[in-house]
Amino acid sequence: MGLSVYRTDYRRVMEEHTCNTCGSNDLVTISITVDGQDLSFTACHNCQTKWWLRDGQRVALESVLDLVAST
Ligand SMILES: [Zn+2]
Repeated sequence: MGLSVYRTDYRRVMEEHTCNTCGSNDLVTISITVDGQDLSFTACHNCQTKWWLRDGQRVALESVLDLVAST
């Protein structure tokens, strides 16, 4: 049902906007599209942790660079 889908998406978004290292919500996110895939870079203001998401999954910086280099 639509409501449950919305709830699932909402929970996923909340996880993406909480720092895994310190639990802070004080994050900055930059979203880009590379080769049709949504990539977002997030950095935590509190502890300076940085990470990438590809289609909602955390990915290593190396795999992002491979994707960009292959285009
Ligand atoms: Zn943090």
